[in-house]
Parts: sequence; C-alpha cells; structure tokens
Amino acid sequence: MNELKVFNPATGDLLATLSMDSKEMIETKLKAGHDAFRTWRNTSVYERAALIDRWADLIIEQKDVVAKIMTEENGKPLRESLGEVLNAVSYLTWYAEEAKRIYGRTIPANTNNKRIMVTRQGIGLVAAITPWNFPAAMMTRKAGPALAAGCTFIVKPAEDTPLTMIKLVELAHEAGIPKDVIQCVVGVGSEVGPVFTSSNYVRKITFTGSTPVGKRLISEGANTVKHMSMELGGHAPFIICEDADIDFVITQAIASKFRNAGQTCICANRFIVHKNVLAEFTEKFTAAAKALKLGNGMDPTTDVGPLINKKGFDKVVEQIEDAKAKGASVLVGGTSFEDKEKKTYFVSPTVLGDVTLDMQIMSEETFGPVAPIIAYDDLDTALEIANGTPFGLAAYYFTNDYKRGIYLQDHLNFGIIGWNDGLPTTAQAPFGGFKESGLGREGGIEGIEPYLETKYLSIGNL
Ligand code: NAD
Repeated sequence: MNELKVFNPATGDLLATLSMDSKEMIETKLKAGHDAFRTWRNTSVYERAALIDRWADLIIEQKDVVAKIMTEENGKPLRESLGEVLNAVSYLTWYAEEAKRIYGRTIPANTNNKRIMVTRQGIGLVAAITPWNFPAAMMTRKAGPALAAGCTFIVKPAEDTPLTMIKLVELAHEAGIPKDVIQCVVGVGSEVGPVFTSSNYVRKITFTGSTPVGKRLISEGANTVKHMSMELGGHAPFIICEDADIDFVITQAIASKFRNAGQTCICANRFIVHKNVLAEFTEKFTAAAKALKLGNGMDPTTDVGPLINKKGFDKVVEQIEDAKAKGASVLVGGTSFEDKEKKTYFVSPTVLGDVTLDMQIMSEETFGPVAPIIAYDDLDTALEIANGTPFGLAAYYFTNDYKRGIYLQDHLNFGIIGWNDGLPTTAQAPFGGFKESGLGREGGIEGIEPYLETKYLSIGNL
C-alpha cells in the first residue's frame, strides 16, 4: 500500500506516515457517501443543525490540540493556528443557523387552476479538494453549508497537511454525524482528482487551490456535468491613497502581507502607493517588517514561519532574484534559508523598492513574505495597475476620502474588497473571486447556494 509521509516544515521532523486510499477504496467511499445521501437529506434541518453545532463545540473543546497539529504540519505561528480553528468553527455555527433558512417560494400562476411552487434541496454527494495553507477553515467553509443543505461530503486534504483534517473529521463523527455522511480520503491530488471528477456518485466538486488545478478539474468534470465551485489564486493590489492614515495602514499591511508567511490567496501582493506618501509608507513599513521574527511557529515569539515546501520556496526566491536583476532594491530581508538535509525552507520578511511592472512579482502570485512597492501619480493609473491581472480575488485600498473610496469600489474588478481593512474574511460575508480567481462564493447567504438544487413544481387541474 502506498504511504504518505507528513513532515514538520519548520524542523523537517517526520510527523506521521499515513496509508493512502487506493482507487478502489475511494470508489467504495464515494458509493457510501452517495447511499448515505438518501437518509441524510431526509433528516430535519434542526437535527442537522444540532449535529453541526455539536461538531463545532467539540472542535472548540479541542482547539489547542487542533492548533498544535496545524502548526506542526503547516508551520504557521501557534496563535495564527488558534485563530484559524476559531474561524473554521465560525463557518459551522453560521451554516448550522443558515440550514433553517433554506426557503422555497410560491409564484402567482397565470391561471387560477394552477399553483406554482419552488423548493430547494441538497445537491447530493459533494467532493472537496482543499489546500495546505488553511487546513481547517478551507474545509469547514465547504462542509458546513454542504451538510446544512443535506448533502453528504467527502474531502481530500492537501498532501502536506492531512492531519488537521483527519482530526476534524474524527470530531465530526464523535459529534454524531454519520461516518458515511462526512468522509476523508488520503491521497495525491492528481490521482484522487480524476476519481472524483469521473464518478457518477459525485454531483459537485468544490475546490480551493491553484488556478491551473482548478481549470483542470473544471474540464475533467465536464464529462459528467458536475456542479463546480472554485476558489483559486489571487494577486491582491493594496492601494494607498495620498490622504491615508499611514500608521493605521502599516498595521493592516503587515497583517495582510505577512500572516501565514504570505501564503494566503488574499495576501496583499502589490503595494501601489501614491507618490506623496511613498517615502513615509516605505520607511515605516520597512521598519515594521524588520521587526518581525522568523522562526518555528511553536515558539510564541515567532511572527513568520517557514514556507510549506521547496516548490513554494523556489517560486519566492525566483521572484526576489528576478526583481533584483531588473533593478529592484531590497529594503529589508531578501534572505533565504534552505536546509537541504532537513528539507526546511524559510524566507525572511522582505520589502522591495524601485519595483517596475515588468518584474515577475507584479504579474504572478507570490505566496511568500515578499512585499513589492510601486509608486503612482493619479488614481486611474493605480486602478490600471490593480486591474491589470487575470486574477480578481481580493483588493485593498486606504483612503478617508469617501468619493475616492466609492470610485475605487466601483472600478476595482475583484470579488472581495477591503476599504481601510486588511483582513476582510468572515463567515457571514461572501468570499470568492472574479475572472480566473474562481467560480461561486463561500461564506454568507451566498455560500449555501452552490449546495442546493432548485425544484419547480406546477400543480394543475385545481
Ligand atoms: P494546488 O492547486 O497545488 O493544491 C491544492 C489541492 O489540489 C491539494 O489538495 C492538491 O493535492 C490538489 N491537487 C493538486 N493537483 C491536483 C490535480 N491534478 N487534480 C486534483 N487535485 C489536485 O495549490 P496549493 O499550492 O496547495 O495552494 C496554493 C494555491 O491555492 C494558491 O494559488 C492560492 O491562491 C490558492 N488558494 C486559494 C484560496 C481561495 O479561497 N481562493 C484559498 C487558499 C489557497
């Protein structure tokens, strides 16, 4: 049987050796999930809500255990892991409530001897594929609405971070959610993906990860006309207007850029700064980045942990080197630490000045702790730079001028916008992107829609 080894990215220590599910085992799980839908969909929404709430309670009871597993396999500072566990739970409690508001409607018919009704029902078995950067929250914001809607759920976690997910699924079963209603598959994405996309038991694929893999899943799923939700890559602009309160901006810029070592899809990726505040922003931001401590996430003084793996590390180093070769100045950081024996990869918090649009970092997602700063003169130039990307996930801007703020909101082609807010994600709001950043939304009332089918009933001969 094939094995999956899970390592601590901060130390290189082996954390676990898991057996991977074979194709046959996955197919058996898919059939079980499909069969379980028949009974789960007929439970009352109040019963489902109570089970989801109980699951949330158990995660809270074990939050320190889950956070430790997460930091060990993902590398993020322990306080960030704890924050993610609470955020993951907030999706469960939100959707336990939302289950009770899956309303249908009646529509006036065009003749008196008819009645027209519309009802909503769970779509069926949902197969999820999730990334390593938020091992808990990326799952619960799919599982919460899916289970609430009456769907059954099967998830394949990322190869680098399966342990958090395995623990969460164990807790779901402990809470009383039947074992075939929520299942976990351990395996390699490129092997599990086609089993999910080709299965007639699966009605929907929900994916969070990179845009190339998302495109592949969409095309693979076309054969069986699967419903698709895609949360893909980003390339967030962070626009700082001339009137912005720079000290406040720094707090938001540091949080938006450096949390999870810059490995979030909504991380600020391009700092677009008005020339009148460029010097002040650059000086203060550089000083704040310099104060961040790089290290093992288990150390409470660590602010920035390791990068997840060599692939991620190589991309970040390549972007720094490319920018330097094209004339960027390294204002702080720029140092990379690769331990070839332990296979650990760190990059110190880095700020780049004298950045130009031809640099890779201005057109590709970084997924690392590197902040490029580019200056602008007038707002339309800033907008042109911001929108000049195939991605459209998150965008940020900082201004206290309401006309400027509304103008930016109107013209930015992004699904999530933070106006004077560097951390906009929350369970009650719709999260998702324009263009190649994805399809559909997670969170908020929009987040349950992708798990529901619409059924129209016409009653005649009255
Ligand atoms: P990735 O696409 O390589 O991996 C994500 C998941 O897809 C993993 O579980 C992996 O095993 C699986 N996978 C890989 N190849 C596959 C295939 N051929 N078929 C099916 N599944 C496959 O991405 P990553 O490097 O793990 O994550 C980083 C990316 O995820 C970034 O681009 C980031 O922007 C994006 N992301 C997006 C969001 C969002 O909500 N929009 C959130 C987090 C991360």
